[in-house]
Amino acid sequence: MARLIIDNIPVEVPAGSNVLEAARQAGIWIPHFCYHPALGSVGACRLCAMKFVEGPVKGVQMACMVPAQDGMVVSTTDTDAARLRQLVIEWLMLNHPHDCPVCDEGGECLLQDYTVAGGHGVRRYDGRKRTHVNQELGPHIEHEMNRCIQCYRCVRFYQEYAGGTDFGVLGSAGRVYFGRFRDGELASPFAGNLVDICPTGVFTDRTARFRARYWDYEMAPSICPHCSLGCATTPAARYRELLKVVARHNDAVNGWFICDRGRFANGAVNDPARPRTPLVDGRPVEWDAALDAFLRRVTEVGELYGPASIAVVGSPRLALEGSALLPRLATALGAGTLSLFTGSAEAAMAAAATALPPERRASQATVRAADCIVVADCNLPDEGPMLALAIRQAWRTGAQLFALGTTPAEELARVLAVAITRVDSLVAAPLAQAKRPVVIIGSRGTASLVAEAAATGAALAVCLTGPDAFGAALLAGEYGAAPLAEAVASGRVKGIVAVEADIPAELLARVPFVVAADWLPTETVRHASLVLPTTAWVEMDGTFINFEGRAQRFARVMQAGMPVRGLDPSGHAPHDHCLKPPGGEPMPAWQLVTRLLAQLGEEPPMAPLTGEWQQLRDLDPAGEGVILR
Ligand code: SF4
Ligand code: SF4
Repeated sequence: MARLIIDNIPVEVPAGSNVLEAARQAGIWIPHFCYHPALGSVGACRLCAMKFVEGPVKGVQMACMVPAQDGMVVSTTDTDAARLRQLVIEWLMLNHPHDCPVCDEGGECLLQDYTVAGGHGVRRYDGRKRTHVNQELGPHIEHEMNRCIQCYRCVRFYQEYAGGTDFGVLGSAGRVYFGRFRDGELASPFAGNLVDICPTGVFTDRTARFRARYWDYEMAPSICPHCSLGCATTPAARYRELLKVVARHNDAVNGWFICDRGRFANGAVNDPARPRTPLVDGRPVEWDAALDAFLRRVTEVGELYGPASIAVVGSPRLALEGSALLPRLATALGAGTLSLFTGSAEAAMAAAATALPPERRASQATVRAADCIVVADCNLPDEGPMLALAIRQAWRTGAQLFALGTTPAEELARVLAVAITRVDSLVAAPLAQAKRPVVIIGSRGTASLVAEAAATGAALAVCLTGPDAFGAALLAGEYGAAPLAEAVASGRVKGIVAVEADIPAELLARVPFVVAADWLPTETVRHASLVLPTTAWVEMDGTFINFEGRAQRFARVMQAGMPVRGLDPSGHAPHDHCLKPPGGEPMPAWQLVTRLLAQLGEEPPMAPLTGEWQQLRDLDPAGEGVILR
């Protein structure tokens, strides 16, 4: 630990911290552009000047470049340091286009904030500004190089952190340029992080261009639903439209970043073709009529084939609140089948993951810190993209990487710019000699591979098939749920009540009656005779349990309803008064199941999570989540 005094405040920080970090710990925010906790210090922007009054370093210095040491006495308010910071801002603004009114970063721009905070209000320089030609970087990222302040964060993230090779710094001296050799879509699956990491508006989210200012957004802490890793995000919405998603910091999970799927693959929320109204045989009806039809039809199926012919089906993408109520629905219906997975293999892998003791389950943070990693039967950029970024961080600090089975080693090595050695068995990798070994197994692995990997003593990361696969597996074990494919193959299933479940066409073809509760316009929804619309994750509070058994809450970001833009091409809100927004019928899946239970004459539960799950209700959505034991 290092003990120092900053602005008369005694501070104690871990050895290796710099003085900028020490000041932050003391609650003193010093402007900076180039320093980033995930990228370290380079002293490029010259903005974090402090006066070192006593101790081993003296004078005005860049705080990010000075290690905190015992005996230091530092002033951030010293007039020389404050004046230097002011002048640096003025100097950085010499060539800046001052185009805040038309810049999407306006309102969430560090340069804007520090310029105002530093008091730089009058432009003294009347020379010509340096200008650049922008590049076409693909459908997701807008490029406006004139706004650049040469902090080098983008290139340090893209090349060093993410291993990208098609973007860098070009030119020299006063004409450095951050871009590609020529126009073209950025190749890295993590390129979207440029939007978050650039402190000005050089890289902005093209998909949300000119749609809102920071203060217009509805935002809340959320969890990405696009794989089982559970990365922390902050979705931003306006006028019932999900405009963009940015990374949220969680050191235990994704650190500071997310992958491009988590950031850009959210268009389905705004899809006008989403199920938004209850449908009976394709006809829109009121909720009461839909619930009556549900009761009537499950009764008919029960009379024809017996109630045990009904299967209640959830999925790894259904939030825990919905899954936890499905066993009650199955009991109320007298259903013979409860399924939380479609296939046997995915169910077996999820069950194997839940059987691991918590201390043997690897998180993204464990992988980042590993010294030997085997990736087995796993297409990592597809199954757990941020784990791919995690293995690159491990490789950068000296970890050895190995690929086993169907893992596409060459592809992984190319995307991440790392060296990966192919091995033909787990024992061929030096897991036993490593201090922090990790084995990553894909969702198409086998339970025996998980057992074999567990026997090596390594921590295990098992990629699963959805954001709540772990929770679904816990419930499946508790209630004896069977994979749907097995139940349908036995010939006993004649009716399916699917709650946010994707049922393969070959199974649907064998079942005469299907109810689909969903927010996605899936094949199951198209096939169903009764459709009950549910809300997307951004339209409800809920819980996902990620691949390592970490329960994380997500909070409602926006109200369900047809995006205003979809209703009126002019983009104006409708002028008719109504109590519910158009398309606002969907309800959270757990709430819908509660309504179905009431329809069946059951006492509805007071809350979705009861019994042992109750403890999760009070989890802070902005926190790190909790590992289930
Ligand atoms: S483009 Fe943005 S992140 Fe890159 S150097 Fe310029 S200001 Fe910094
Ligand atoms: S790694 Fe998975 S959970 Fe994380 S941002 Fe990407 S898709 Fe979402």
